[in-house]
Amino acid sequence: MIAHSPKTAWTLRLDDDGIAWLTFDRPGHRVNTFGRETLDELEARLDEVAADDSIHTVVVVSGKPDSFIAGADLEEFSLIHDEDQARALSERGQEVFAKLASLSQTTIAVIHGSCLGGGLEMALACDYRLVTDHKSTSLGLPEVNLGIIPGWGGTQRLPKLIGLAPALKIILTGKPVSARKAFRMGLADGIVAEAFLADHTRRFVERVRTDAGRRDVLARRRRVRSRVQRAIEATPPGRALMLRAARKNVLRKTHGHYPAPLEAIRVIGETFVHPSMRTEADALARLACTPISRNLVRIFRSSQQLKKRSAKDGSGVRVGSAAVVGAGAMGGGIAWALSNAGIPVRLKDISWEAVAQGTSSAAAMFAGKVKRRRMTAGEMNLAMHRISGTVEYTGFGHVDAVIEAVVENMDIKRQVLREIERCVPRHALIMSNTSSLSIDEMAAALRHPDRFLGLHFFNPVNLMQLVEVVPGEKTSHEAVVSACELVRSMGKIPIVVGSCAGFLVNRILLPYIIESAAMFEEGVPVERIDRVLVEFGMPMGALALADEVGLDVGYKVAKVLEHAYGPRMRVPDGFGRIVQDGTTIGKKSGRGFYIYDSGNKRPNDEARALASNGHTAGGSNGEAIPDADVLDRAILVMVNEAARCLDEGIADDADALDLAMVMGTGFAPFRGGVMRYAQERGLREVVERLGELASKYGERFEPAPLLVQLAEGGPGFDGSVANGKGGERS
Ligand code: NAD
Repeated sequence: MIAHSPKTAWTLRLDDDGIAWLTFDRPGHRVNTFGRETLDELEARLDEVAADDSIHTVVVVSGKPDSFIAGADLEEFSLIHDEDQARALSERGQEVFAKLASLSQTTIAVIHGSCLGGGLEMALACDYRLVTDHKSTSLGLPEVNLGIIPGWGGTQRLPKLIGLAPALKIILTGKPVSARKAFRMGLADGIVAEAFLADHTRRFVERVRTDAGRRDVLARRRRVRSRVQRAIEATPPGRALMLRAARKNVLRKTHGHYPAPLEAIRVIGETFVHPSMRTEADALARLACTPISRNLVRIFRSSQQLKKRSAKDGSGVRVGSAAVVGAGAMGGGIAWALSNAGIPVRLKDISWEAVAQGTSSAAAMFAGKVKRRRMTAGEMNLAMHRISGTVEYTGFGHVDAVIEAVVENMDIKRQVLREIERCVPRHALIMSNTSSLSIDEMAAALRHPDRFLGLHFFNPVNLMQLVEVVPGEKTSHEAVVSACELVRSMGKIPIVVGSCAGFLVNRILLPYIIESAAMFEEGVPVERIDRVLVEFGMPMGALALADEVGLDVGYKVAKVLEHAYGPRMRVPDGFGRIVQDGTTIGKKSGRGFYIYDSGNKRPNDEARALASNGHTAGGSNGEAIPDADVLDRAILVMVNEAARCLDEGIADDADALDLAMVMGTGFAPFRGGVMRYAQERGLREVVERLGELASKYGERFEPAPLLVQLAEGGPGFDGSVANGKGGERS
């Protein structure tokens, strides 16, 4: 056998039993990914296998501890400039995997850890797949999340293996399935405990070397699909019905903004009976070059970079135990996130009832994971034992970090911070989850403000990945690095932002809600405002979002921003009239801009009357405001504020800002974020349009100086605005 240099990603080892162990271990990379080079190497190893008739079975494994293959190398993918290059990459993968599929020897992929995208497409080209029952093992084709479809045979092999309906589900949702589910649906032929993997693999090899064993495995694959399912798939009308339903479902969820799932349905529909790798490659090539795919890839890569980036200079405190003060909606969630990361946490509030409330909301989040089979009941039990309650500061003498999440009141927070500082060791980080109060004003209450900073989680903590890390004037670099590492250890994405009212995300989001409330006050129906925004690609309309957040909470934050930024964030009086009696405060009270009634919502006429106060404000009336103005007023006001944030260095650069808005608010991901949207629309046009809106609706639309400057011939946002504060900032 040829000896390969240590730089080789694919190695082949033949044992005495005639089994060739083909190991993928890309040097210098945390996870295995496929690019040109690794595909070429794989092909070379496959040629060696094909030429060696002493080999009867090839077992493909990963050399990485808890991951199999993460998919294609996105770095390489993002260098693709045109359809020809995209098609060539697709065809190359198809060709190499076809070689694997056509080996005369038996091929088995042994999957431990995540097996995604190209990784699963390679495994699909093997004769059999074994998976470990480890919780890190998951199998999926997430390509649609990047605006493309599987292009290395996934659309061809998966439906054949597990059936049309389950394959559509995997490909159209992009969501990976667990090892157990993969086994249940016939995607895996065996599931084994990691500890016995080598033994079980050998036993499986022996089994499928016999005719009876092989028949058994193939019969099981057939059995897992119901007779009805097989019957529906077998006829053209049955298949057409299935594909139509899938298309309808995709359109309902995406409003037609995402072409990739629709293309996947078309390709699978056209090739199910007459397979065609060519059709798959052509579709992938077209999709890979759309701005939508480029935007989704850019957002994904930024998030990966922020997740992975480790302390560059200066090391931080590694948080081994922590405390949370305030066990309300946020405190309970933060305690959950810490415990979920394996960190013991003390949860303090002023009463045992409040502590119990926070603990039970953490328990509910764990129970959700158990229900989705992401953890076992035993693991949940252990995780809940990591959270211990207190109404005093007992146990705070040993913690490495404290996160304050008490009520949003400066005096109370300063008092609580002083108490915390008295109880914790000198090295401990102290952080506040405030959404609107000044970090520096809080820091002034502390003797050692260098270890204090803002750590702004979003609600609900278990679902929102973004966390804003907000250093104050006196925060040390070490504290920033430690906070970012803590956030990463919770599996979340830290983004370091400048300290200003609303920080980054709320400072940009609130003007959007305020402007929508202003349009409502001017008489534009709530449903029209929200419809226009959803059609643009927002996950929900601005006023439905305000109802979700709570109008009381939103109003309070809006007033803080109005106070900080003046007339351009003036909160419409009508908004104040709606919330003033405390009964119309959004979904939680059953009424806000909408009335909520047994799962349905309808416009709230009372809110309408309160907002307009019996007349139409500003001499305007809702019907006279066209949809185009509704859209631009809500969206361009965000673009304008985002440009100010970049100018002031509140975000490092346009990429970080866009990622924060997509992750923190759900801003239409396919548009790539606020700045990318402006860039693609054309900065000159954006500035002109803002000018028009300013003369029609008020000075608040006056274009931000940075926008004007860039529109007049600057290089655009891409990498043009950079500003370094602290080593964690790029
Ligand atoms: P909440 O009212 O649900 O909970 C606050 C908790 O703090 C209560 O349980 C209260 O008993 C407790 N508390 C009050 N004084 C205390 C003291 N002296 N010591 C210990 N506990 C005390 O509030 P919340 O929504 O969880 O918000 C908490 C913080 O998080 C606020 O600063 C808020 O601005 C911020 N925040 C909230 C959201 C959100 O959507 N709710 C999002 C991001 C940030």
